[in-house]
Amino acid sequence: MAPTSTAPAPPPDSSSDEEEGPPRKPQLSLVVVGHVDAGKSTLMGHLLYELQLVPQKEMHRAERESRERGKASFKFAYLMDAHEEERERGVTVDVAVKRFETPSRRVLLLDAPGHRDFVANMITGAAQADAALLVVPAATGEFESSFLENAQTREHAVIVSRLGVSRLVVAVNKMDAVAWSRDRFEEVRAALVPFLVRDAGFKEEDVALVPVSGLTGENLTKRTAGVPDWVPRTTLLEAVDALPAAKRPVRKPMRLVVADAFKVVGATIVGGKLESGRVRVGDRVLVAPLGETAQVKALTCHGESVRRARAGDNVDVTLSHAPDVTRIHAGFVLCDARAPIPVASAFRARVHALPLLSVPILNGSQLVLYAHSTEVPCTVERIVGLVGAKPGAPAPRLVRRGQTADLLVRVARPVCVEAMDDLRPLSRIVLRSGDASVAAGFVTEVTERADVVPAQRAPPRAS
Ligand code: GDP
Repeated sequence: MAPTSTAPAPPPDSSSDEEEGPPRKPQLSLVVVGHVDAGKSTLMGHLLYELQLVPQKEMHRAERESRERGKASFKFAYLMDAHEEERERGVTVDVAVKRFETPSRRVLLLDAPGHRDFVANMITGAAQADAALLVVPAATGEFESSFLENAQTREHAVIVSRLGVSRLVVAVNKMDAVAWSRDRFEEVRAALVPFLVRDAGFKEEDVALVPVSGLTGENLTKRTAGVPDWVPRTTLLEAVDALPAAKRPVRKPMRLVVADAFKVVGATIVGGKLESGRVRVGDRVLVAPLGETAQVKALTCHGESVRRARAGDNVDVTLSHAPDVTRIHAGFVLCDARAPIPVASAFRARVHALPLLSVPILNGSQLVLYAHSTEVPCTVERIVGLVGAKPGAPAPRLVRRGQTADLLVRVARPVCVEAMDDLRPLSRIVLRSGDASVAAGFVTEVTERADVVPAQRAPPRAS
């Protein structure tokens, strides 16, 4: 197989262990959430710096730019935001800076500091996440405003939980601003934990609180003498390391959710996360919902050219005999041509109505569906029933906040989704109204398919 001009030749395929590949640390996708100004960028930037993942040159640039703008305290945040600007300009982001390793995990950070539509982006992140890191500010007055009825601490925590992300690390940040006061930490815990358990639906044992300072770097990867004795002996890095590895559905049909499609020197490259199955150089794949096929010419995984990738990997796939790149969009799915993903025009979903639902959901409600990287208008065609209702009870006319319901949803444009029992990550959905997330849950059954029969045949698989 000829290498593309963008990817070096793949290494020889010497491994006979087709299923598992060489042993690697399990990857953990961690979505970073929290109220604006909680200190997410500062904390992540400082963590990556401490792990020596930030080149000197970049640190100097961030220091200089933040100083010039009179915002020296933002220097670590600038590390992260520079990449965000790059993304906005359409430049491929160097994701290497957003990865780090703990003793037993490769961690991929899913975050969107400074993004215009933070919640939309967070939903994409949360839809792929194995666990979440919630950053809350302990500073006087800041925790209180980040925790108001409609504040993002609540909205993010509820969405993450209802999308099935069950493990949560809470970084209680800015502890330096309250002189590492134990009383303040306990005050934050006493307000937050009951909310996380009762309203958001986390189990208490699945929530770990770690007091930190993203600004001074205290308790991120190590603790110094400045930290008082009451602080539990677990750093943020250790709390992340203790998160359980997600099981990857390697043996299910291949599904790669497209995050990005671009052309480099004539080659069509599609980047995204492989949610299930495997892909090898030479495979024929279907581009859904287009219904057209293409051939895998090369694979790049974490900057390295590889011959195959498997569920959990983030990959760039170089395609040949592919549809034009302008027709491939985020939210499309590259899948096994012999077992294509359902392309749904209607589906049944079980959703939980969120605190931001102000007007109840009715038959005919017009909402916007978010599923992995897709966003599309939709209509609630019918409220099928409320979870917990008496058997034989008539179908309800409305769904109020706090209720869990089965809905029949019709989308304005067909979307690639899976039923929860088939592939959970691709069944997660959020329904929004205006800019409020009003319900979150899972597709339980695709009731109407709009699949297109493959229109274009690529040459048979290369051996
Ligand atoms: P984001 O919006 O959540 O990404 O927050 P930023 O990282 O941009 O930080 C918002 C503000 O909080 C900036 O002024 C930071 O310097 C400040 N900040 C962030 N972390 C800390 C911290 O640990 N201690 C103190 N005192 N300030 C912090």
